[in-house]
Amino acid sequence: MKFYDAHNHLQDDRFGGRQAELISACGCEGVACMVVNGACEADWPQVLALGEESPRIRAAATPATPNGDEQSASGASHPRILPSFGYHPWYVHERTGDWLKQLTSFLDKIPSAVGEIGLDRWKPDLPYEGQEEVFSAQLRLAAERNLPVSIHCLQAWGRMHEILKTGPRPARGFLLHSYGGPKEMVKSFADLGAYFSLPGYYALERKERQREAFRHVPPERLLIETDAPDQSLPVERNRFPLMDAAGGKPINHPANLPAVYAFAAELFGEQLEALGARVEANFFRLFGGSTTT
Ligand SMILES: [Zn+2]
Repeated sequence: MKFYDAHNHLQDDRFGGRQAELISACGCEGVACMVVNGACEADWPQVLALGEESPRIRAAATPATPNGDEQSASGASHPRILPSFGYHPWYVHERTGDWLKQLTSFLDKIPSAVGEIGLDRWKPDLPYEGQEEVFSAQLRLAAERNLPVSIHCLQAWGRMHEILKTGPRPARGFLLHSYGGPKEMVKSFADLGAYFSLPGYYALERKERQREAFRHVPPERLLIETDAPDQSLPVERNRFPLMDAAGGKPINHPANLPAVYAFAAELFGEQLEALGARVEANFFRLFGGSTTT
């Protein structure tokens, strides 16, 4: 069975440069593809490098086979990395004067995906000023190129809906990652083209409101994510415990993806294989690709 991580941050410094090791572990677990989201101008080059280097990581870890397939000696294949470039609302206030030009040039190099972008009125002391302008500019860019876009939203659901409804948005749809909005808004977002990705964090007992919202997500709009290094599963479900580079705090390992799928299968009362086939089709529809690419 193949697993698709709709949202993570593999470039994050908290991984302490262990990306090749993490990618290899993901391959052994059956992770077929992951969308790696940039968050600010400083990390876009790292995201680009992961996107460009992933074939090289594969080549280094994989003995050449006559038929050219990507199976390693252990039988595991390495995940495809889909780089995504965007200004996260937490860093918008740090932007330089030519951030949009920079973003455009990264998307010219790899026209893959836009994200993580969004609106955040939850984080204490975070300026809201400028967030809508930066979000809308990035959404417009994604719409012009019909690229998939990954959206973060905390305590700004009304404005988010208004902007998505009235402004340009990609014809192929968009992802509301770790959807935590009201269950009543799921349908109206879905009508605008939304997909919704479920993180392992929502397996925590206290996250019942978020689980209930996900029960309202249309079957053809569900995706699964790790959001690694953030949003860890509850301890008893965490199969890959990991500490940050400084050794001080636990972080989420992207190879926990199958454990998030297992949580989703329980939540929807569905067989894992059936859920996997549905999520795979949804992933390809939004992010592109197929079982043969
Ligand atoms: Zn994220």
